[in-house]
Amino acid sequence: MKVSVSNEFCQGHAQCHAKAPDVYELDDEGFIRAVAQLDVPPGLEEAARLGASACPERVLAPDE
Ligand code: SF4
Repeated sequence: MKVSVSNEFCQGHAQCHAKAPDVYELDDEGFIRAVAQLDVPPGLEEAARLGASACPERVLAPDE
């Protein structure tokens, strides 16, 4: 599973990381670290979807 990341729209709310810390890493300023696309590790698909739906800026788009 992959998640498209429109990181240019990230506002550093950290909601993605709060829901799925093993999927969405943040940088030192609280912005998403991934650029363009990230691979979700096996078993973390549901967490990835939860984290994506929690993003108020619609930065994260799961591909399934
Ligand atoms: S929830 Fe959205 S805006 Fe906030 S850090 Fe994550 S990707 Fe960025």
